[in-house]
Amino acid sequence: MGEQLDALESDPVLLTFARAALAEIDQEIEQRQTSGLDEYWQGLKAISDQGHAALRKAESAPMRWRPISELADRYHQPLLLASPVLIDGDKNPLGIADGFWQDDEGWVVADWCMCHDTFHRRVLAEHDVTHFCIPNGPWSGDDLAAFEMDAAARLSAEGGA
Ligand SMILES: [Zn+2]
Repeated sequence: MGEQLDALESDPVLLTFARAALAEIDQEIEQRQTSGLDEYWQGLKAISDQGHAALRKAESAPMRWRPISELADRYHQPLLLASPVLIDGDKNPLGIADGFWQDDEGWVVADWCMCHDTFHRRVLAEHDVTHFCIPNGPWSGDDLAAFEMDAAARLSAEGGA
């Protein structure tokens, strides 16, 4: 289990795959349980339970900084990026910023401006970003689904008002 967990933690693509595969497995279990055909589902349920436990552990593992060369999907969001060119003793001593990859531009990051007291869009060259970290946030998947539903409800309420 330890090795499997390390693999999950170290590879966001594996995490994405595990979530998708577990969703399919859970759907299949549900179908077998409710088909009325007395289908065998216990084996799949054992696999699903094991997968969910591993996923929970991987998702709650502390965020880890890794070299940008190990980023499997540069379009992944959200991303925290580290760059020596962002280091500024007054406003960004660690050179870390929220950012994303934009084709034909580079790494787009939020850069705090002390003149205007606001964030500016700043584009960094590909080679200027040296490390990344995929933040896991404090929320569970259920929390996020509930927040999205709240946001959708607010939008439709505002639209209808
Ligand atoms: Zn400014």
